[in-house]
Amino acid sequence: MNGETNKSVYPTFGLDFISHKRNFVLTCNLPAKGFVDLIRVFDSDAFIVGNEVNWITLRQKEPELTERIQSYIESFNEQGSPIKKLLYDFFNNLVDGECFFVLNHAQRSTSELLDLWCKLGQINAKTINTSFDNNYYHWGTTVLNHNIDFYGTERKSFGQFKKSEIKICRFCSGKDGEYNSKGNLVTFGKKAHLISEALGNKRLISLDECDSCNEYFSRTIEPSIVNYFAPYRSLYGIPGKGGKKKLVGDDFELDAEDGFNIQFSGSIDDLSKENIRIPLRLKQTFVYADLYRCLVKFLLAVMPKEEMVNYSETIDWIFNTEGGDLPKVACLQKSNFYTEHPYLVKYKRHTKDLKFPDLIGEFRYADILMIFIVPFSKLDEKQFLLEEEITFFWNTFIGLRKDYLWNFVDFSSMTPLGMEIDFKINGIELGKNAFLFKESEQK
Ligand SMILES: [Zn+2]
Repeated sequence: MNGETNKSVYPTFGLDFISHKRNFVLTCNLPAKGFVDLIRVFDSDAFIVGNEVNWITLRQKEPELTERIQSYIESFNEQGSPIKKLLYDFFNNLVDGECFFVLNHAQRSTSELLDLWCKLGQINAKTINTSFDNNYYHWGTTVLNHNIDFYGTERKSFGQFKKSEIKICRFCSGKDGEYNSKGNLVTFGKKAHLISEALGNKRLISLDECDSCNEYFSRTIEPSIVNYFAPYRSLYGIPGKGGKKKLVGDDFELDAEDGFNIQFSGSIDDLSKENIRIPLRLKQTFVYADLYRCLVKFLLAVMPKEEMVNYSETIDWIFNTEGGDLPKVACLQKSNFYTEHPYLVKYKRHTKDLKFPDLIGEFRYADILMIFIVPFSKLDEKQFLLEEEITFFWNTFIGLRKDYLWNFVDFSSMTPLGMEIDFKINGIELGKNAFLFKESEQK
């Protein structure tokens, strides 16, 4: 005996719980026996061959399993807390009879996940009678080069700091309590909405955007995106900051709840027609390049911190106020994509195929979709400004959605633009839904 003590470090392992709607990673420190016990909660017939634990990965939520999980948690005290989280975040959200996978933890590509979701969709269609649409799982060629993540369906905070960590702003790189390169004191006192609150975002929060940057963005670039989407917000009655908003122009008011009150200068001849087209001019303006900056800023806020080094030039561009050519933005208006909450999709290239942009975002608000390339990424070789670069990429990337009527819009301009809604009214009836005023009574 040499007096040495034995140290046994429990191995850390991860399991992926994948349901049709949710992925949950369970990370635990358990001895080998503990790991087998845990697996046996989900598959009581799990068996060991050599060092390997074998189990059937497809499981179903049934009363017996719920009981096994409950008694497993009770047998643990503190150590069981990740399992408790599994129960509350994942298992309790499953419908009785719903199938899910228990798999070894791995980084899965979007196409692998789509395969798993598709399998679950098919199985659940039978076990819990959900509808199954095969097309939903076909992202075509998009997933060949990019992994896809979605943001906005649930509450989430980004850029969390560890307790011992010094807080550093994601955008200005300033440290908490010090002055940043713009000469402003860096503090983290206010709640920073990852997508403008005026667009109704209450779910996505940035923890690592400093107060000074937050104030700067909301004063400079954010009015462009808020003003741009204001007509859609009012038309659909989508709540913004402080509730639903009226749209006010020079000669009209539009309130989704109270209807429309439009005063315009015209003659009785105009009103004797059955329908009429009026251009409604809005008071606010927007700048295309600032709208682009906002979209990119939203997307960068969800990127893992360690990847931000690739976007330092992108951040410089967000802060600068100069013009310059930018890749065109693909825009679409389509009611199938209607969403009341702003919604963000991240496409991150996982291949080395430089014909495709490194990072692409998709922003959805009301029935509008915008797909944009994040410019100035260090992982890109091309700028995606040339017609042939962009045509090749869009044709492949938009894939299954290529039959829609996309508009490829140049967002490079720094000129403030006024907005006009081409408003069409049908079925005018004088004295019923249209009234005449004398010139002097109009205001
Ligand atoms: Zn900052």
